[in-house]
Amino acid sequence: MKGSCLCGEVRYEIFAAPCGTTLCHCEDCRKASGAPVVAWTFFPAGSIRFSGKTPRKITFAERERTFCPDCGSQLMFFDPALPHQFEVTTCTLDSAGKMCPIDHNWMDDRLPWFETTDTLPRHPKNTPAPSA
Ligand SMILES: [Zn+2]
Ligand SMILES: [Zn+2]
Repeated sequence: MKGSCLCGEVRYEIFAAPCGTTLCHCEDCRKASGAPVVAWTFFPAGSIRFSGKTPRKITFAERERTFCPDCGSQLMFFDPALPHQFEVTTCTLDSAGKMCPIDHNWMDDRLPWFETTDTLPRHPKNTPAPSA
């Protein structure tokens, strides 16, 4: 699975199957992206390789977010408390259209004017850990 930032200077390739998808309404994701909600796809740790320009890593609230140093696209999220996985912004994947979110998380932070009509499960905070 491949992806890139807006300007294309940072590209990445993932060598494992995705293990989850979600829509995150948390304030940190919103601020980091400038969007009302951010779609994420989860993968097993260690399965991503970047090429092109070296992405910029920012640590905020003890969690790491990765951006293109040129165009600023948010690419990746890593929480050291969940070391077995990382997330990429679904919309930077070349195949974003196939990565349908399966739930909403951090509904407690949701903007009052943002609502969707889907029937996906809604969680007040984090997506519960996968049972698999
Ligand atoms: Zn870029
Ligand atoms: Zn979030």
